[in-house]
Amino acid sequence: MTAMSASAAAASATQTSPLGVPRRVLAIASAAVAFAFVLLALPGSHPGRGELAAAAALGIAVVGFAALWPASPGIAKIAAPLAYVAMAAVLLEGGGGTSSGFGGLFLLPLLWIAIVGSRAQLALGFAAVVVARVLPVLIGHSASPPGAWRSSAVLGAVAAIGCITMQQLVRVARLRADELEAAANRLAGQNEQLRELEQAKDGFIAIVSHELRTPLTSIMGYLEILLEDETSLTDEQQQFLATVNRNVGRLATLVNELLFLVQLDAGRLELDLAETDVALLLAEATDAARPVADARNIRLTLEAEDVPPTVCDRGRMAQLIDNLVSNALKYTHEGGSVEVRVGRADDAIAVSVSDTGIGIPADELPQLFGRFFRASSATREGIPGTGLGLAISQAIAGAHGSTITVHSTPARGTRFELLLAPASS
Ligand code: ADP
Repeated sequence: MTAMSASAAAASATQTSPLGVPRRVLAIASAAVAFAFVLLALPGSHPGRGELAAAAALGIAVVGFAALWPASPGIAKIAAPLAYVAMAAVLLEGGGGTSSGFGGLFLLPLLWIAIVGSRAQLALGFAAVVVARVLPVLIGHSASPPGAWRSSAVLGAVAAIGCITMQQLVRVARLRADELEAAANRLAGQNEQLRELEQAKDGFIAIVSHELRTPLTSIMGYLEILLEDETSLTDEQQQFLATVNRNVGRLATLVNELLFLVQLDAGRLELDLAETDVALLLAEATDAARPVADARNIRLTLEAEDVPPTVCDRGRMAQLIDNLVSNALKYTHEGGSVEVRVGRADDAIAVSVSDTGIGIPADELPQLFGRFFRASSATREGIPGTGLGLAISQAIAGAHGSTITVHSTPARGTRFELLLAPASS
């Protein structure tokens, strides 16, 4: 097993498969055993039959111990490499000492222990290698060729330095991994809390909006009746009621906007699609806005080219256009002008609403369609609003596969544009 594959083994060992055996650990152990036996095919001295049989049995033990990983990782971690040391020792002696080339195999189990084991287990591994190297010579089973001890010492020192360094690196990596895991767990917990808060907020908005809508509708109804009966009210009372009416209207708009967003977030925005004449929608929007424009001495014009129909939800599209037109009037000073246009732009139908109003600072444009966002130009002038209209308009455009774009120059004016696909395309 190489350093890299052994680390992969360590990584995969933590993810126990449902079948019990982490396949990568097993594959690495099998590959390391197979590698030792493939070496026999190369030219050089070879072990006898008895030694081959013993090495094969030990090789099977290595794979068997590795297979124990899911059930007893402690045994697999140390027993598999120790069995490998024994197997390498048998092949080495059969091959006639260090010159056989099998001595390098001792590195593989040591690297394995360095990666997956403790410092004490690594020391045990080294002790096993020393015993495996020295014992056969001591009991006279094997003659050590000249220079073998020196090469063994070099190999041992290199292995010790390499394995200790490796173990240190693995330890640091594990510490970092633990820290990252702890941070990830913390973040996951915070995410969960945020999700819960978000749900609580949405639920709160939904309940409050629903609860407000019914009394508001009732108040508006009674106000209308009162205001119709001009004779029994003094001028002052009529004025007061008109103010109440205006503010109730604002509240009703806010409630409707909030309810729309709740519906949108719940994925319950349903479109009632039908072929629609956008020019007609614009004409209706400008007609409805004309009294406000006239009252504020704003020139409101509509320029409509002959355009094909588009497929859209008529009510929602009217809501979007009304919002753009009423905004244009709201954010334009008396004496200014608002131009509503519809025309062809390549293959699309282009709707635009331009005004000569207060404009929006360039650095605020990216946030313009965000919920509750209000440009500094609007708040500075004390123009009332909720900051929800454009978010809703953009959501409606998005539901129709389009987007609203905006160009604005502070104190010069603003232009909103929407491209719609013609019905036939
Ligand atoms: P509201 O108008 O209720 O505040 P909107 O979502 O419709 O909310 O608009 C968000 C903000 O975008 C407004 O508060 C205003 O600052 C800016 N805005 C929208 N339309 C215009 C416009 N035509 N001219 C200048 N500013 C605008």
